[in-house]
Amino acid sequence: MSIIDNAKEIASLVKNLGDIGLYRKIVELEGEIIELTKEKRQLDDKLADITCSQVIIDELRFDAPFYTNTDNTELYCARCIEADKRAIHVVKQSELEMRRRVYLCPQCKSKFADVRAC
Ligand SMILES: [Zn+2]
Repeated sequence: MSIIDNAKEIASLVKNLGDIGLYRKIVELEGEIIELTKEKRQLDDKLADITCSQVIIDELRFDAPFYTNTDNTELYCARCIEADKRAIHVVKQSELEMRRRVYLCPQCKSKFADVRAC
């Protein structure tokens, strides 16, 4: 039985006692438990994302202005890795900057001209 089920069962038992004040407090507590459970689930999801990203990040190397995998076939946003510990692929744009291809991070919207050695 989950903590939410337990809270609902307690609220039901208290309701039968006829103490309206106590029942209101239990219902309020039940709502707080539901909210905390929702927040915990969101944090668990975020931690799973960070853990997954960290596994990827550990395999990358910095090749300014990107982080790349070992065979240089994937490019990641340096800002997202360094600030948020998230491995986000950058997306090639059609525009050029000083005759260099520009890449956009879909997460933080940073743009990077590919200034790596050709
Ligand atoms: Zn980014």
